Amino acid sequence: MPPADSACRVVMGFCLIAVLAAVAGSGTALAQSDRPRAALDDLVAAYPDALAGYDAKVLRWRDGTVMPLSGGAANKTFADLLRHASILDQLRVPYPRGALGRPPAVDADPGRFRNTAFFEKMYGDCRRGGVTPHLVSLPWLPKTWGKSIRITSVNGVDKQLRAISAEIDALPEDLKRAAYPIAGTYNCRTVADTGQPSPHGYGIAIDLNTAFSDYWYWRSHNGPIVYRNRMPQQIVSIFEKHGFIWGGKWYHFDTMHFEYRPELLVGR
Ligand SMILES: [Zn+2]
Repeated sequence: MPPADSACRVVMGFCLIAVLAAVAGSGTALAQSDRPRAALDDLVAAYPDALAGYDAKVLRWRDGTVMPLSGGAANKTFADLLRHASILDQLRVPYPRGALGRPPAVDADPGRFRNTAFFEKMYGDCRRGGVTPHLVSLPWLPKTWGKSIRITSVNGVDKQLRAISAEIDALPEDLKRAAYPIAGTYNCRTVADTGQPSPHGYGIAIDLNTAFSDYWYWRSHNGPIVYRNRMPQQIVSIFEKHGFIWGGKWYHFDTMHFEYRPELLVGR
């Protein structure tokens, strides 16, 4: 893991690159930088059952589907990127693994730009009943809480969450108290501030105990966002080890939220 200072500079640098690339025109092929290629390599490696590869302009799925890597307006603002992310857009903000040394930089929200077509192809469209056939039930923290939760079995997400549950269950009570009761897993809804499909609607996300959580949207929407977190790093590290990113690493923080996004964690 790089030092905290270095990680923060990387986050800010990549955000700048993302903005410049968007301004340069997202309808073009891969940018000159090797960074998009490395991120696409990580994407294909993270979903080996679904993805076959990519070329200069498209992502290739194993079933023959092709999707454009770029797309949308040429001058995307942060709000545009949240609502109309291309596949390249969704990969451009690197996710800093390990403990944060300082609050995230302004608008550094690694993982919040999501290409809807990509996720609906991968997990289904919950509004059309495409997600629930893949959901399975498992007991969350069986030694401690044990209530049944539902998560997708696509990409083995259920197996990863079962392993996470066992590891958190073995933590001391004062730490694992932040992980139950949970606030939810599958829920076919939109994200509060963007109106876009929530990762909860794909069955790949879990919200932990709200009594130990902080969410920027619960606070003032005017002026700079003041970061706050009470989620134990031990819980964050367990999720990251199993391919889940944490909403506590977003400028628009959501510290109860964990989401299966292995493409942002492989190779790091
Ligand atoms: Zn959530």
